Amino acid sequence: MKQDHMENSYDIGIIGCGPRGLASLEALYAACKGTGKKPRAIIFESTKYPGAGPVYNLKQPKTNWLNVSERGLAILPRIEVELSGFTVPSFPDFQNWTGYAEKEIPSTMVDAFPLRSELGKYLTERFDSIAEILLKENLLTIVQGEVDHIALEDNGVRIEVIGGEAYRTGEVALCIGHQPVKLDKQLTGWKNRVGEIDGSVLFTQPYPVSRIVESTGLVKGSNVAIRGFGLAMIDVARALTEGNGGRFEILNENTRR
Ligand SMILES: Cc1cc2nc3c(=O)[nH]c(=O)nc-3n(C[C@H](O)[C@H](O)[C@H](O)COP(=O)(O)OP(=O)(O)OC[C@H]3O[C@@H](n4cnc5c(N)ncnc54)[C@H](O)[C@@H]3O)c2cc1C
Repeated sequence: MKQDHMENSYDIGIIGCGPRGLASLEALYAACKGTGKKPRAIIFESTKYPGAGPVYNLKQPKTNWLNVSERGLAILPRIEVELSGFTVPSFPDFQNWTGYAEKEIPSTMVDAFPLRSELGKYLTERFDSIAEILLKENLLTIVQGEVDHIALEDNGVRIEVIGGEAYRTGEVALCIGHQPVKLDKQLTGWKNRVGEIDGSVLFTQPYPVSRIVESTGLVKGSNVAIRGFGLAMIDVARALTEGNGGRFEILNENTRR
């Protein structure tokens, strides 16, 4: 039985609160500067980490790095916004937040890549610092849950969450990021085949990598084949080596191979 929150209507519903949901929330209140407006927002996020989401989950292993270097990671800071009766505080950019901007780093130094969980911490703090004031002003509601249905209705939007709650908003911003995809023909074939081969295990998703590393099907001397040679491959290869106490060696300092 769906529980109805339709009487509590909100000006805007933000569905999904990873980095883009957070940016939408910040942009909404920044746009209100000088207008006298104070919209009521409601955020729907299925994970426990608004701001960070699953990609920048704070609990992920340290073997998951960003693919952007500390030097290149130029996330704009949040500028303070004065609204009628309260202020949305400023928040530093990532390089200032980590202290990187203050270091004198020679241009010849090899780039370092921050942990994805570290960016998650930054995004969580950034989210908390705007949410705190909006919650206090009674302008924000946060729903931890997965939206499974939305419908345009009576000049507004009806938003339903798995488990039964329904909400009403004037407008909606979809910030749902990566969505699950159907297995392709090749993986479907492998999935069917793997059951026929003793001791073999197939992972159709690289994340969370801990699922692969901790799999009972993986023992010392196991052969691991990885389909694809992109960023997720690097995370998986690092988790299977450094994550298990192993290491990579640089054999040539010039090529860093
Ligand atoms: C494994 C992985 C690693 C990546 N690494 C990098 C990197 O190193 N550098 C880089 O620049 N980019 C990276 N990316 C790209 C990454 O997607 C973006 O950096 C960023 O996460 C996009 O932000 P987003 O808010 O649009 O989407 P997401 O981060 O995917 O956030 C979407 C949010 O919506 C929520 N959500 C989705 N559906 C619903 C629903 N129905 N109801 C409620 N909530 C919902 C999800 O829980 C999630 O928190 C990576 C992506 C992946 C998948």
